[in-house]
Amino acid sequence: MFEAKGYQKVDFQENPDIYIINTCSVTENADKKCKKIVKEAKKISPNSYVTIIGCYAQLKPKEISEIKGVDAVLGAAEKFRLIELLDGFAKEQETKILASEIKEANTFNNAYSINDRTRTFLKVQDGCNYGCAFCTIPLARGKSRSDTIDNILESAREISQTDVKEVVLTGVNIGDFGIQDGKRKEKFEDLVRALDEVEGLDRIRISSIEPNLLTNEIITFVSTSKRFVPHFHIPLQSGSNTILRKMGRRYLRELYEDRVAKIKSLMPHCCIGVDVIVGFPGETDELFLETYNFLKELDISYLHVFTYSERANTRASEMEEVVPMKKRNERSKMLRILSEKKRRKFYEENLAKTFTVLFEEDVEDGKMHGFTENYIRIAAKYDPILINELKAVTLSEINEKGNVEVLEPEIVFESHSTINSLNN
Ligand code: SF4
Repeated sequence: MFEAKGYQKVDFQENPDIYIINTCSVTENADKKCKKIVKEAKKISPNSYVTIIGCYAQLKPKEISEIKGVDAVLGAAEKFRLIELLDGFAKEQETKILASEIKEANTFNNAYSINDRTRTFLKVQDGCNYGCAFCTIPLARGKSRSDTIDNILESAREISQTDVKEVVLTGVNIGDFGIQDGKRKEKFEDLVRALDEVEGLDRIRISSIEPNLLTNEIITFVSTSKRFVPHFHIPLQSGSNTILRKMGRRYLRELYEDRVAKIKSLMPHCCIGVDVIVGFPGETDELFLETYNFLKELDISYLHVFTYSERANTRASEMEEVVPMKKRNERSKMLRILSEKKRRKFYEENLAKTFTVLFEEDVEDGKMHGFTENYIRIAAKYDPILINELKAVTLSEINEKGNVEVLEPEIVFESHSTINSLNN
């Protein structure tokens, strides 16, 4: 939108006239981080116009407006009309706050990222109607709403005309895809089926999906898909049913176990990532061990561990039986170690097998990296010709940095189903 109006994107350090700073409400100390970045921006470009957007701007517009150097704060609905609302970015005496109540944020604004040659993040859904006790996202992003399948297919076709090789489908609660104007009109499974037909897309990855919304149909479809990769990221949050109930999650551990078993029965090489929160109020040592042992036994590939921290205006922040910070940190450390063991085991299980890797631009110590379809991080000898290319590789060994080294990259296979049948 900026470029269409004649603006040019420059680097943070390149003395910009306007800074647009995007904040996150999930990040801890979002306020401090925001302050720090504004300070850095003003140091680089003292006369710049500083605008703050994003979830934290929606939740705490007043606090942000008081940060020295901020010219405007825009909420979740307003950020999409930023250029129009800020009208030439003329500085005023008072900081502008344009953040309406979150219930006003009910339109869907489609977008996909264009700053990376290798992959793009395609937004298909926004907002969430769930009310997990710890989460501020529904307050910052509003009700669940989605793009239409037709619109998404149009974006997908545009992407297919570019060099980008991987599309990551994103949303706040992606499995809840399909609500338009407050009514359920389409289903995530239908979106998956439709996208699989778009010629010219190489890989499609589903970013993260709630276990209760990951249906057998979706899993089965992905297992034979031409384009959807064998990788699921499924939030668990706790392996204790007592804590899951307190969190207000919509499933119990048995359902999660069942999802993992279904995936692995169809795709033994599928990568499964798990989000887990430690130190939620009421998580006794015994209940934490339930989570630990549950994860230890589960056939998953890595964990994203979050240390619980209180967020204003959430039910969890009012709960008793608060877990001391020291314990929260100890538990987090235990799960991070478990995550490393899981990842290594998953990598080991896939050694000597053949996958396709999408090579990225980064170079480190003469090595380049990339991910296989099942999200194994590969290291190979740097060769600029391989950047943004999909190559078939045979996984040879795990190096000291924990990445997998490969034999010389070879030919590209036609589809993931070819790879599936090769490795099964
Ligand atoms: S489903 Fe996800 S986004 Fe929605 S309330 Fe729960 S944690 Fe937050």
